[in-house]
Parts: sequence; C-alpha cells; structure tokens
Amino acid sequence: MEPFPSDQIQLPRNMIENSMFEEEPDVVDLAKEPCLHPLEPDEVEYEPRSSRLLVRGLGEHEMDDDEEDYESSAKLLGMSFMNRSSNLRNNMSVYRQNPNGSCSVPSTRTMVVCTVVLVIAVSLIMVIYLLPKCTFTKEGCHKKNHTMELIYPLASNGKIFPWAKIRLPTDVVPLHYDLVLQPNLTTLKFAGSVKIVVNVVQVTWKIVLHSSGLNITKATITSAGGHQEKPVEFLEYPLHDQIAIMAPEALLVGQNYTVNIEYSSNLSDTYYGFYKISYKDENSKQRWFAATQFEPLAARSAFPCFDEPAFKATFLIKIKRDENLSTLSNMPKKATAPVTDGIVQDEFFVSLKMSTYLVAFVVADLKNISRETNGSLVSVYAIPQHLNQAGYALNTAVKLLEFYQKYFLIKYPLEKLDLVAIPDFQSGAMENWGLITFRETALLFDNNTSSARDKKLITAVIAHELAHQWFGNLVTMKWWNDLWLNEGFATFMEYFAMEEVFPELHSDEDFLNLIFKAMMKDSLNSSHPVSSAVQSSEQIEEMFDALSYIKGASLLLMLKHYLTKDVFQAGVEVYLHNHNYESAQSDDLWDSMNEITNGTLDVKKLMKTWILHKGFPLVTVVRKGKIISVQQEKFLYRVETENWTSDASYLWDIPLTYITSSCNFTHCTNAYLLDQKSEEVEWIKFNVDMNGYYMVHYADDWKTLIDLLKKNHTALSPKDRANLINNIFNLAGLGKESLEKAFDLIEYLTKESSTAPLTQALFQLSLIYNLLEKNGEQQLAARVMHRIEHLLGDKIDQQRWTDDGTLSERELRSTLLTFACIHDIRNCSTTATQMFEKWVKSNGTMSLPSDVMKAIFTAGAKSSDGWEFLLQMYFSSASEAEKSKMIEALASTDDVRKMIWLMQNSLEGEVIRAQELSHIIATVSQSLPGYLLAWDFVKENWKKLTRKFHLGSYTIQNIVSWSTSQFATKVHLLEVKSFFESKSEESSQLRCVKEAIDTIQLNIQWMERNLATLQELL
Ligand SMILES: [Zn+2]
Repeated sequence: MEPFPSDQIQLPRNMIENSMFEEEPDVVDLAKEPCLHPLEPDEVEYEPRSSRLLVRGLGEHEMDDDEEDYESSAKLLGMSFMNRSSNLRNNMSVYRQNPNGSCSVPSTRTMVVCTVVLVIAVSLIMVIYLLPKCTFTKEGCHKKNHTMELIYPLASNGKIFPWAKIRLPTDVVPLHYDLVLQPNLTTLKFAGSVKIVVNVVQVTWKIVLHSSGLNITKATITSAGGHQEKPVEFLEYPLHDQIAIMAPEALLVGQNYTVNIEYSSNLSDTYYGFYKISYKDENSKQRWFAATQFEPLAARSAFPCFDEPAFKATFLIKIKRDENLSTLSNMPKKATAPVTDGIVQDEFFVSLKMSTYLVAFVVADLKNISRETNGSLVSVYAIPQHLNQAGYALNTAVKLLEFYQKYFLIKYPLEKLDLVAIPDFQSGAMENWGLITFRETALLFDNNTSSARDKKLITAVIAHELAHQWFGNLVTMKWWNDLWLNEGFATFMEYFAMEEVFPELHSDEDFLNLIFKAMMKDSLNSSHPVSSAVQSSEQIEEMFDALSYIKGASLLLMLKHYLTKDVFQAGVEVYLHNHNYESAQSDDLWDSMNEITNGTLDVKKLMKTWILHKGFPLVTVVRKGKIISVQQEKFLYRVETENWTSDASYLWDIPLTYITSSCNFTHCTNAYLLDQKSEEVEWIKFNVDMNGYYMVHYADDWKTLIDLLKKNHTALSPKDRANLINNIFNLAGLGKESLEKAFDLIEYLTKESSTAPLTQALFQLSLIYNLLEKNGEQQLAARVMHRIEHLLGDKIDQQRWTDDGTLSERELRSTLLTFACIHDIRNCSTTATQMFEKWVKSNGTMSLPSDVMKAIFTAGAKSSDGWEFLLQMYFSSASEAEKSKMIEALASTDDVRKMIWLMQNSLEGEVIRAQELSHIIATVSQSLPGYLLAWDFVKENWKKLTRKFHLGSYTIQNIVSWSTSQFATKVHLLEVKSFFESKSEESSQLRCVKEAIDTIQLNIQWMERNLATLQELL
C-alpha cells in the first residue's frame, strides 16, 4: 500500500516488547479433544497479551451503559454488600418478632440456619454483582473492551466460544476459496457465498476463521470423500472478528473438508472492505462505484476467510452484476453468463496462491486503455470522463514492469495487470495482485493541469505498487510485525527503479527528504523498531508508518551501498526465488543475502542491529592532525524521563562512508565498518550522499565545513550539502551544537541553486518560523522570515511564472513561489493575484502554468470573492490534479468560518470527499488563525474520524500529528494529554498520540533553550 505521499510528513509509541509474547501462558486447546466434558470457562485458551488484559477497563472513560454499571458495581461492592446484608438483618428481625411484640432469644439451631441462609444470600448477591449483565442474556457478551469477556469468551449466542486468541489457530489451513458475490448498487447491499477447501493439520472439532459485520445465514461442511453437505453450528465472536464452525465429528489429519457459508452485508461507508463510492458522471448525475480495500484486516468484512497473510490460498471469484456495469478482479475474466433479467455473472480465472489482503474486485462503469508487454496485458481504467488522463500511467507502468522483470529475473506471473483510478480512496494506492487500485491524483496525468510534482508522484506510486507485485504479492511477510519487508522494500525499489528508468525526475532528492522526516520521528522516545511485535488491529494499522516505509527503505539503501549493487541484486533474486508463493520473515532476507556473501560478511548480524532496535546512531568525528577518531552513541531527543526506555548504550554496526578534500567525491568513497583513518586532509565529510541511516557531528570541525561551503560549496554534492544542513539543525535541537553555527552554515545559500539543499533549509527554517509564530513570538517569527528573504529572496525573484525548465527546476519553482505566496513575501501575491484575476475573468478557461497553479490559487483564495469562485471551479473541474491544488488553496484561507466549513463538509464526505480531509486539516493547522481550530475540530469529531478512518491508520496518525504539531506550551501539553486519556485505552495508547506528546515536550524544550539565542542572532 502507498500512503498518500504528501501525507508522509508526519511523525509514533512504544511497542510491546517481544518478551510479552514469550510469557504466553501454557494453554490447552480443549476443542481439540471435544465432547468429553463440558467446556469450563477457565479451560478456554487465553489471549496472550495478559498484561493488557489485566489493565483493560481501568481508566476507561468511554464506556457503554453495561460496562459502566459493571465497573461501578465492582467499585462499590463493599458498600452495596453492607447495605443489603443490613436489609436482610432487618427483615429477619421483623420475622422473628413474636405476636405479643416481645423479643424471644433465638435457638442455636435457628442461629446456624440463619447464618447459612445469610451466607448463601450474600454469595448470590456477590455473584450477581460480579458477573457482567450480558452473561445471562441471549446475545451474550460481545462488546469490545470488556475485561470479563476476554477471560470468558462468549459467542454472540451466549455459548462459550472455543478460541480466545486474536491470531487464528493453525490446526486447519485454507487451500482454495470459491467466492460468489452479488453487489447491488441500488440497495447498496451485497449477498455472498463462499466455499473454502481446508486441510486439517491437527485433529480438531472446530474451524475458526475471520468474519466481520457479515450476516451469516447458513453454514455447512462437506468431507473430502463425502458428497453430502452437513449443516453445522457456527458461533460468532465479534470482539476478535472470528467465527467458529463446530464440526459434527472430529476432523481428521491430512483430510480436506469444504466449508460453505452463505451471508449478506451492506456495502461499507468507510474506506475498508467492500465499499461504496458516490461520484458524478459526465452529466453531473450521481453514480455509485463499488471497490475493495482489504489491507490489512478488511477481507473478513467482504467474505469469511482466514484473514492472516501467511494463510495463502487460491481464489475463484464470480461476481453477479448489472449488465451495464463492468467488473474487475485479480485475474482475467474467464466467462460471462446471464443470470436473470439485466443481471449477468462474470467468472474470473483461478488465482495464484496468495494472501487474503491482496484479493480485490471492482464493480463500476469503467473504460480503459491497454498495451501488451512480455505476454501480459497492462490496462489503465478510469471513469469514462477521466480516461483521457490515463496515457502517462500506461506508458510508465509498461516501462516499470519491464524493468522489474529484468531486475528480479522473475517474470510477472499474471496475464494481465490492471491499474484502476478510484474516485474516492483513502491512501495513495493498493497493490492487489493484478488489480492495483489508486487514488485518482496518484494515477491520472492531465497535460494542462498536472505539474512536474504531480508527474513525480504518479511515477513514484506506480513504481511502488509494481514492486509489490514481487515484494508482498509473490513473497509476503509472515505476519504484520515484518510489514517493512513489504513496504520498506517496495519504497526502496520505488526510488531505485525511478532513478534507473526515469533519471530526469531526480527522485533520489525526494527520497532524501523523506529520510530526513523519518529520522525526526525515529529520534523520539515514542519510536519503535522497524520489525516490532504487533497483535491488535490498532497495532497492525499503526505499522503503516514512516518507519516501515522510509526507514525500512533507507536501511536497504545503506545495505545496497555497502554490499555493492550487484551483490545486493543477487541477494534479492535468491530471496524471491527461495520464497515465492510463500511467506517470509526478516531473517529469510538476510539468509538469502548471506548465500551471496558466502561467509565474507554476515549480513544478518549487521542488519539485526538496525532492524530490531529503534532510533539511529549519532557518529561524532574528532580530528586531531592526522588522526581522525569516530565514536557512536544513540541520537535521541530527551524529554521527560517518565516512561524512559534505557537503551542509550545500544551499538549499531555502521557502514561508514566518507569523502575528503584529497579526492573527487565521485571516485573516492570508501566504506568499511567503524575504524580509524590516518591521513591529513583539509576537510572530511562522512555519510556520503546520506546513503547511511545516521547523523554526523563534526565536533570542532564544523567551522571547516562551513568555510568550505562559503568558499566552494560545489566541492560537495547537493545531497551532501542538504545532509549537512539537516544534521546541524538537528544537533542544535539536541543541544550538541549552537543554533548560531547552524545559521552560519546556511549563509552560503545565497549561492545555492540545487533543489535538495534549498528545500532542506526552507524546511528547517519553516519549522522555527511556525513554532515562533504560533507561540506568541510574532516579531521574532517576522525576523526569521526576514532571514529567509535574505537567503532565498533573490532565488524567489528569479522564478518565472511558467512551466519552463527541467523537472527539478520546475519543482523548485513551485516550492519557492508557493512558500512566498502563502507568507506574502517578495511581491509574490501581487503577481499571483493578477494572474488569478485574469483566470477569473476567463471564467476559468484560461490555462495557468501547472507548477505555479497552487501559488496562484492560494493568492486568489485570500479574498472572499476569489474563494467562492475557486470553490465553484473545484466542483466543476474534471481534473483531479487541478482539484487537489484548489482544495489546498481553499484551506489556506484566513477566514475561520471557511476553514470550519471545509473540515466539516469533508468529514461528511458529500460535497467534498473525505479523502481530502487529512490534507485540509494539515493546511489549516499550519496557519495562525487555523491551528487551534484544527485541534478543536479533531477533539469534537474524534469518534467520527476514527470510525471513518480506523484507529491507528495512516490518516489518523497524520491528523493527530498535524493538529498538535504547533503546540509548545505546558497548557497545550496538558490539554492534549488529558483529551486522549479521556478516550478509550486504544486511543490513548496510540503511538501517534505518544509521539504528539513527545513532540510538544520537545517544542517546549526547544523554545526554552533557543529563544534568547534567536533574539540575539536575528
Ligand atoms: Zn506499499
């Protein structure tokens, strides 16, 4: 999956350590030896995360009535018990009063009987109070966050559910699915039936699999030899999205059985599962579109299945549809047959062996263009009015497919590859095997309105998803803890393939910027190892973050440079050949690499230090004459010592690279593990082109590098210059270097013309500007802006308002002019407003240069009339590329009512699609009038947001990060902390929440440390 790339700026929580899983209690699967005796609650298998079990429910503030009653009862038990027993005593004394009113002394026997009665009564009351109400109801206990429920898993019908773990049992494995679906785009419901052929690995009486939100009407089982379907009892356990098929007799080892389930459900109104999308056709008529998004955990909401990546199987899919629509699935279509009036059934060929999260289907009115390459038909599909924007994607996909087949030495195994533009899509794209789905802006290129940056985005997303056809689809990670094997690899290949196939795009500079951002996130205590133990749905969702994608990719980049290109490629080929159609773990990759290095280097030992530990090293270089010594320590922003993980002594195996004054940087890169170097040189720069995932501190030698940049900055490559800017500002944040020196280093920028260092400097200065502006230091912020003008003003003035130049120049133009127009510097707004007015006069028919379009729209949206006109044009534009520039410009308004209107309407998803919401919130939270508003909006709508986008998802991570990133006061820190503490445990424990808290604390610390220095400096 590709999270929407412009979202990748965001920052994460401590993971449960592996040791928690090692402490899994010994359990007995009684269902394997069924019917010998009734199943007792304490014989049911325990959920392994026992420590989480124990605390669940405490500190919960969002409980439903049942839970609240239960909890308050438990707390008040002592008091209630006393009241009730005193009532009992009163009743007894009334009973014992004799007719004449005098009191008699009770006999010993009476006393004993009464005591027994009292004890029984009190015990009964205690039992009634202790058990949750639902225990005795027909529905049973199936609400989330229920302590008792996890200890005694009760199915929705009140019976004991025979499995209590989140992960499925491995006694039965799926081999093949026959899936028939009939979606109805009028009623927005669907009916389905699935036949699953399973193989029994261990004798059992139950088959546990996933199902979520499906209304199951019938379940039967057929044995391999038998022809008769036998109806079976099935139990549902919604807390874990599981159902259990209870077999009438023991299922025998080695035998195949077929489970047949019939069900129905609604098309989802979220972005997960089999979901519905509303869009307008060429005639502005509302139409419906149905598509799937299963990764990571939503295949179970479209059909009952073994929804874990390691349970690979083959799939035969049949879809019944309206004869006017078309359907697509992973495999080519085999046949179409009439069913009833106006309804036909499409049958697709049987798939290759694959994971459930890669299954996909689309039902809509679509058109396509196609081209054949190497025996596979590549097609790009879009709604009819967007088909004219599909050409660039088709060319790009064909080129990249050819490249990957050569690089991996494995042919793309399917006869077709479809790329489909989906009109409303949460992430950037999804790599479903043979049927890749995209957000429209990530696939459709419009010659008039798509910018240089849009072209890079589309190329990058296609490169990423095509790489997944091998990394992820052919070889899949065993479990979500190793998601980086999918995502890190696909991200690495995305940039590698772009450099090889489209060198003119300079995508390595984009990759560099993403690595800088991932390191920001990884330098917080809330970070996590690339490979981290995960179990719950929120934890799995949270793995889709910059660390799995970008850090994973940058570690592979470092390894490739260390091993050399050819050795790395050979290792990748071995890995793919050894594990195709199977699943793998991180160690399998290192073992494959070791087959190539053949004892000369232990890749596993080297890479484990990077994969299993959070954070990265800071290498300090000290030069004394001819002696250069280097040392490593953990780079970590220290905030409060609360929840501190003591891992400061951790050591990495660092493949150090360096260049010196005595040789040209293209020829003298040396690489070896931490060692010494003795040669007198004028200057030395480590981490060449930032190909290693570490920062470097030059101790007393920064001055030498600063002077070098001022005298002859081209002695270093643009990436090295960007790397120095990034490192010195981060070291200043850490307190290791002065901010004064950081500002001194960027003084050379007046001579800089490369995109990478300019972009990095602008990013660092914008962070400082934003922090000052939002925290009552407007005057100082203005002085930062003045400094930006001093450094970049000439560069901004030199930009032309056209689409001329190389892609890199065009992208820089777009960055500089958008920045200048947003901050109203260098007369940018005057030029942009004039162009906007001309565009308005032409009623939007005049063609604007695509690279500066956003700057023009941003300037135009500052006036109320301009904003209204832009909104009308947004509704009528047929170009998604244009619309995305318009929506960001609309959100950059200073009018708070307009900001609220945009956020509210995007959340509702009617007039503005919900896919835009995280961008709108990001833009609003960057502006002075909007940043508090964005946070208020998130607080007020937290429940709706987490329903629409799922807790832990990339979108939620971004929304939390953006809406809190500007805070730098203790009041805001407290406010953010107490808001999330008042929500469910799942919300407050989110990594992005911990990260937001770390970031605010760091902001506070930064302000305290640097305010006085800045006052003097600027
Ligand atoms: Zn991906």
